[in-house]
Amino acid sequence: LTLQWFGNKDVRVVEAPVPAITEPTDVICKVTGTTVCGSDLHLYRKEILQLQAGDILGHEWMGVVDEVGSGIKNVKKGDRVVASFQIACGTCKFCKEGLSSMCDTTNSSSLQEKLYGKPFAGLFGYSHFAGGFAGGQAEWVRCPFGDVNLLKIPDSVPDEKALFLSDIIPTSYHAVQCAEVKEGKSVAIWGAGPIGLLAAKWCQLAGASRVIVIDHIKERLDLAKKTSGCDIINFDKDQDVVAAIYKLEPDGVDCGIDAAAFRYTKGWLHGIQHAVGLETDSSEIPNEALRAVRKFGTISLVADYAALTNQFLIGALMEKGITLRGTGQAPVQKYWKNLLSKIESGEFDPTIILSHRFKIDEFRELYDAFDKKEMGIIKTFVQT
Ligand code: NAD
Ligand code: ZN
Ligand code: ZN
Repeated sequence: LTLQWFGNKDVRVVEAPVPAITEPTDVICKVTGTTVCGSDLHLYRKEILQLQAGDILGHEWMGVVDEVGSGIKNVKKGDRVVASFQIACGTCKFCKEGLSSMCDTTNSSSLQEKLYGKPFAGLFGYSHFAGGFAGGQAEWVRCPFGDVNLLKIPDSVPDEKALFLSDIIPTSYHAVQCAEVKEGKSVAIWGAGPIGLLAAKWCQLAGASRVIVIDHIKERLDLAKKTSGCDIINFDKDQDVVAAIYKLEPDGVDCGIDAAAFRYTKGWLHGIQHAVGLETDSSEIPNEALRAVRKFGTISLVADYAALTNQFLIGALMEKGITLRGTGQAPVQKYWKNLLSKIESGEFDPTIILSHRFKIDEFRELYDAFDKKEMGIIKTFVQT
């Protein structure tokens, strides 16, 4: 069984052949766990331009190695593994520096090249916008460059604690590193989705003096408070988010993290629409962050932005001496061994955000509920 996309809000669980090895560096895995990511909704809603009917979705998955190509050294049949959401070659100059998400060889998207000069790494299950690789919302996956893109999981770590190493654990950690969060620093995080909630936990573990989380979904804000001791701002109640932050931190916060992006409130791909001559809109969050961080503060943007946005408060960036960092797609391979050891030791428990479990044949219902923000779903574990 696989989850395939056929059109706007039309995904179906269908029978599909087991993929075969096509390169000596391939590994075939039997998937044991997968999930839906917020960014899958852009595919679901047909907001990504390079989708084709029959595309297999899913970039977060784990499984058991079933068959390895002749060039594979690091994994063998029977190993439990988690896959990185990005597909890196391991040998280009970015991969050699550990910057797997910037791999130069696995994605030749012409749209990305046109917009950004160079494409970033290919991704599992993200259409021809990201290399055209089949995804992991399936019973079987072919993993290219298996030595690079699979991490062995020890028996002491159960599936639900390992799965999120594929994306959101390293992504949230990377966002916190890029915002230069350290002991004694104050932080504001926009968005209490899986990324924002795990980022809040990393900030707490780093010894941040205060972590403020901004959202308007009460259950998510409550969870941030409960799991990481955060101060919370509900922007439906406190419409002036910047004033609410200064009330808590009179000098402004040292660090800001955008884990929401405007696309969730105002629609995805405004930037690309602008690039091709259609009207666009501005994101309120980077501007709120530029106003709310202290002078010489640091902001990281981990939320996915595409192409252009207008009405950007460049004056605050310049006059306040702010460092603004895009995180890129997070380089999973750079972090995941270290982060696995934090899970193993019990220092970090990723299941704080696990809200629901599903089975593979329930994917349609899951996408529908996730899209409508029903059932209070934060993060799911889908057993295959
Ligand atoms: P999510 O949609 O579950 O969470 C986003 C949250 O932001 C929601 O709870 C929403 O209510 C809140 N929000 C919306 N508008 C807001 C505003 N104006 N102010 C404050 N909060 C607001 O998403 P997620 O899965 O947690 O992912 C967060 C972002 O990170 C997404 O943009 C996602 O695409 C991106 N992402 C990036 C990477 C990477 O490698 N860079 C990897 C994974 C996800
Ligand atoms: Zn994801
Ligand atoms: Zn590479």
